[in-house]
Amino acid sequence: MSAPEIGLLDNEEQALAAAEKLLRAGPPGPGAEAFADLTQQYARLLRHVRYLIKVSDRMQVEMNHLNDRLRESEQKYRSLFENVSIGIFIAQLDGRFVDVNPAMAQILGYKMPLEFLRAHTEDPLWPFLDDNERDRFLGTLAEHGAATHLQLRMMRRDGVPIWVEVNAHTCADAPAQGPIMAVEGMLSDITERKRILEELRYLATTDGLTELYNRRHFLELCERELLRSRRYRSEITLLMMDADHFKTINDTYGHNVGDETLRLIASVCRSQLREVDILGRLGGEEFAALLPQTGLPAGCEVAERLRNAIAQTTLPLGDGRTLRCTVSIGVCAFAAQKVTVGEMLKAADQALYAAKDKGRNQVSSLPEP
Ligand code: GH3
Ligand code: MG
Ligand code: MG
Repeated sequence: MSAPEIGLLDNEEQALAAAEKLLRAGPPGPGAEAFADLTQQYARLLRHVRYLIKVSDRMQVEMNHLNDRLRESEQKYRSLFENVSIGIFIAQLDGRFVDVNPAMAQILGYKMPLEFLRAHTEDPLWPFLDDNERDRFLGTLAEHGAATHLQLRMMRRDGVPIWVEVNAHTCADAPAQGPIMAVEGMLSDITERKRILEELRYLATTDGLTELYNRRHFLELCERELLRSRRYRSEITLLMMDADHFKTINDTYGHNVGDETLRLIASVCRSQLREVDILGRLGGEEFAALLPQTGLPAGCEVAERLRNAIAQTTLPLGDGRTLRCTVSIGVCAFAAQKVTVGEMLKAADQALYAAKDKGRNQVSSLPEP
């Protein structure tokens, strides 16, 4: 066993050495045996003490090592907490925020976490969520104990609405603080992502020239409407419309005037139809409208109204002249349970062909196929 810390047991070592020296040198006398026994016990005791000191030294070294690692780990996670761009929060469900990171404060319009924490010490209602969103968030937590990828509308401090995605879970507080549940989680600002998605969705479903639904989306909506009409066993009418002699318009006035005319036709149609009607540009100078809960007589009336409104509309050409354009319309009504969208399009196309055949600027209808 190596010697313990220098100096720690100096006095005791010296006393033992003196006793051993005395035992070796002194003549045996009364009490010498007891003295030798005592010296031996003292020596044993000293060995034990040295051992205990060594163990304690090792424990101290281990403890220091653990403390270092704990500090490093704390620094590492604190650095993450402070520097990530995702908002992190720990709050109690009574509304008191225990801790938020700088990103969380900034997402909600505060410069510093402290500023945010001061503003939300006693806010059981999480004022940056409106009633609806708060019910959604707290309801999800109450039901599942967690919320995953939950998208919520929030109000920033300056009143600007933002979208965030929240991942959070509830956790029981320290028992001493009673049964109040705490919630901890992360949120990220997805306002920009939402805006881009919305823009992409718009671009994917809308015709760039007229801002009506494009062909693909129009057909998708027709499928949906057909299912609904089947469920309610209601009638449905499809109008197919094509601009008359449009090639001549382009050839006479130029492509830009042609484009402007298409926009005008679209806006007249939009103004004449109901909110529930679905209007799209199928391509070129061809448009279609699906009229839910509408039979053939009413459908023909709508088509005639559209035809007339377009024929009455003039497009100023900028040089004092005006341009008029007419359309031909084919109308077909269906009992929704009997047809597919493809069959509807084909039938309406035939009716349109008949309208062209009759001399254009006409409405033609076909009976139910
Ligand atoms: P009809 O009465 O038989 O329908 O005759 P039409 O001239 O309208 O028919 P046709 O199919 O011969 O010509 C359609 C024209 O529409 C030709 C094409 O260049 C034009 N067109 C298609 N799309 C656009 C567009 O986006 N802008 C413009 N300006 N013209 C277009
Ligand atoms: Mg055409
Ligand atoms: Mg045409």
